[in-house]
Amino acid sequence: MSNNLVTVAYIAASVLFILSLGGLSNQETARKGNIYGIIGMAIAFVATALSADVTGYSTLAAVILPGVMIGAIVASRVAMTSMPELVAILHSFVGLAAVLVGVANYLQPDPTLIGTEETIHQLEIFIGVFIGAITFTGSVVAFGKLRAIISSKPLMLPARHVLNLAMLGASIWLGFQFMSAAGMAGLQPLLIMTAIAAVLGLHLVMGIGGADMPVVISMLNSYSGWAAAAAGFMLSNDLLIVTGALVGSSGAILSYIMCRAMNRSFISVILGGFGAGAAANQSSSPATGQAIPTTVEETADLLGGAKSVIIVPGYGMAVAQAQHPVSEITKILRDRGKTVRFGIHPVAGRLPGHMNVLLAEANVPYDIVLEMDEINEDFSETDLVLVIGANDTVNPSAIEDPSSPIAGMPVLEVWKAANVVVLKRSLSTGYAGIDNPLFYRENTQMLFGDAKTNVSAILGKLLEAEASKAASGTVKVLATA
Ligand code: NDP
Repeated sequence: MSNNLVTVAYIAASVLFILSLGGLSNQETARKGNIYGIIGMAIAFVATALSADVTGYSTLAAVILPGVMIGAIVASRVAMTSMPELVAILHSFVGLAAVLVGVANYLQPDPTLIGTEETIHQLEIFIGVFIGAITFTGSVVAFGKLRAIISSKPLMLPARHVLNLAMLGASIWLGFQFMSAAGMAGLQPLLIMTAIAAVLGLHLVMGIGGADMPVVISMLNSYSGWAAAAAGFMLSNDLLIVTGALVGSSGAILSYIMCRAMNRSFISVILGGFGAGAAANQSSSPATGQAIPTTVEETADLLGGAKSVIIVPGYGMAVAQAQHPVSEITKILRDRGKTVRFGIHPVAGRLPGHMNVLLAEANVPYDIVLEMDEINEDFSETDLVLVIGANDTVNPSAIEDPSSPIAGMPVLEVWKAANVVVLKRSLSTGYAGIDNPLFYRENTQMLFGDAKTNVSAILGKLLEAEASKAASGTVKVLATA
């Protein structure tokens, strides 16, 4: 393929990636956005493979075919609830690729680059490897935390900020050594910096507590974009630069949005360890009291009597895959003239937009799915809130307990409603590992058990009531006839 044709293909792919990001910003257009992304990636892949730079087709096939097969199998098998782990581990691959490309580039220098161009290229290598190493180990730790292989509790080493600064300082000093080294002498500072950056990435993410992981995930997403852009500079591949910059900047914007939604400072996220010691080091006061258990029948009765209902889904609804019966309950209640809406916390579930995706999958109308800010004031005028598998995102201690690790994080203020029914299996904690006083409130009742089993049973009761209403209507009609 001629260079001009490759350039045209790269421009087309870049446009498709931008359209894809635009599409993904809205639920109604997300499917189209995905398709644009797939077409863009296919064009990019074919154009790169057919470009004049690529000659070793057998090596390419030997690497790509197993990669495509593993990717297809893993992606087709992954459950929605494991998607964040998959994304985290894929980010780590991008980081590792940037490190390997950087080292390979250094070992095989381009003889045509001299003077300023060579200096810029060296800088690209050093920065690319630095970001790549942080992204690699940080993403591996994020994977471990999301998969519960590593505790979600933050690692709070004494003087951790000094340690981070020392590692950053050492990397900068090694950068000067690398830039001034002649021949292959720069390899040593490059490799030492890679090891230090790897420890830095590991330490930064280990310092983040469970509830704050969403910000880290979007931040690593951003880092992986910048690592890809750096690899694009090293390989002089314009499309990789554009794509990396798109991922890097959209990830940074998402991190900022997440920080704002969680009332956290972006800088403290980057430095690792939220709450700068105070809240994060203390454990919140344990929630005490007597939880009131309830039954499926009582919950169905409460739903029958309520005029306004808000459903608050969380990670447990995703695990139980309860969204379809929830959607059917919503339809029945709306047909009965009740106001039913959904309240979505920005970090509910394990990935941004998790709940919106599940509800869209179950055909819940978009216009009754509201963001936390849009619905929080309405709880006090609501008859019944059904909390389905949510925990941290409805924890009142975020507002009421300054010593809580999630203090200051906005939550859905469900306890302000007349009645709250929480559907979960036990009184155990959520991802952040914090007790939840909501379960012991006077107006809260606990419907223990698997969310899908219980929601399906509630649906069964509502359908029974519909059937008996229809039957009694028929009897009345026959009696009057
Ligand atoms: P939580 O993780 O706080 O709580 C989920 C609850 O679901 C658990 O307490 C569990 O209780 C219950 N549950 C699990 N399985 C079932 C089941 N089969 N049936 C019924 N209930 C079940 O969820 P939230 O959505 O409220 O909060 C999300 C948390 O995850 C936040 O801390 C957030 O910061 C974090 N996070 C979010 C990310 C994002 O991008 N959105 C990324 C990473 C982390 P029990 O065991 O008693 O059933």
